[in-house]
Amino acid sequence: MKRQKPSRVRQSAAVSALLLAALFLLPLAVIAPFRGPLLSRTETPDETEQPPPFTSGDLDGGTVLRVLDGEEVREMDLGTYLVGVVRAEMPASFEPEALKAQAAAARTYTLYKLQTGGNHGETADICTDSTCCQAYISEDRARSNWGEDADAYEAKIETAVRETDGETVLYGGVPILAVFHASSAGLTRAAGQVWLNDLPYLQAVSSPEQGDRIPNYYSRVEFTAAELREKLLAAWPESDLSGSLSGWLREPETDAAGSVATLSVGGITVKGSQLRSALGLRSACFEWEVRDDGQGMVFFVTGHGHGVGLSQYGANQMAAEGADYREILTHYYSGTTVEPFSASTFRPPERGGDAGGPEGSPPDGA
Ligand SMILES: [Zn+2]
Repeated sequence: MKRQKPSRVRQSAAVSALLLAALFLLPLAVIAPFRGPLLSRTETPDETEQPPPFTSGDLDGGTVLRVLDGEEVREMDLGTYLVGVVRAEMPASFEPEALKAQAAAARTYTLYKLQTGGNHGETADICTDSTCCQAYISEDRARSNWGEDADAYEAKIETAVRETDGETVLYGGVPILAVFHASSAGLTRAAGQVWLNDLPYLQAVSSPEQGDRIPNYYSRVEFTAAELREKLLAAWPESDLSGSLSGWLREPETDAAGSVATLSVGGITVKGSQLRSALGLRSACFEWEVRDDGQGMVFFVTGHGHGVGLSQYGANQMAAEGADYREILTHYYSGTTVEPFSASTFRPPERGGDAGGPEGSPPDGA
């Protein structure tokens, strides 16, 4: 077992490689100091932050997105965008496999939007508004929220995105509408229970989050009779609220976990999710009772969000119990597979005409 001596050829090859590298790096070293100021000219004047050190994997790096952030449209690759989405959409303290599941769900949601045309026509592919597309925050903003944990949290999130490079939730070979929510009431909800149409991969499935460990898992909201009347009539002007308060809301149909599928509001049948929106409740899993003085109504609400697709706290619980991100995703998205996928399979490198996406895509988030 003699150690081989490096040959002369190898030595001289190494020397030439070093010289070659120096040849290329020298001009960069000269240019680098001017890079910041040159780039910032095209950005808003108050953005003085350094370019993020994150580098996307091959698949995510190959997709360039136009991201509408306020008034500005910024181009960035899919991986860089996803890091900003995961920072904003899931607590960075969550389990690494839950963060990976979130990264893959957000990637899938983004690819679905690209494929179907999205909400912004020719202006942008996606925006940073959580009520429209997905939340997104910059590294600087996230760091100031995180405080002394910032380095560790940023690293966790970048790892989650990089280690799932291109991994996408597919149904029939195409990216799904991978919606997610904060926490379920023990059972997720089928798309058709909340929005207009059912989707085969968005069915009600069990969700293992433990309410006592989740902030504001149980919430309580109170309205005076006058406030409630105003909100109900704004949503359903034709509803009949002439009787006593106790008769305004009737006949709730609930699922096994207590989410309200339908109920009668002043004689009109509405979805529980619609009443949730009208009253600003945290979820459609609610009960109500007339206040003791008869002058108001109290709602007791469980969970947070629309309840469809991946539950973030449920994903975190699954991860804590040993599930990996693929197991988490295929649990919450029925009949799906998780596979590497690239936008180039449906989007030519050159941007063509507008695909004109379908109207009324459900919002994600809470
Ligand atoms: Zn949007």
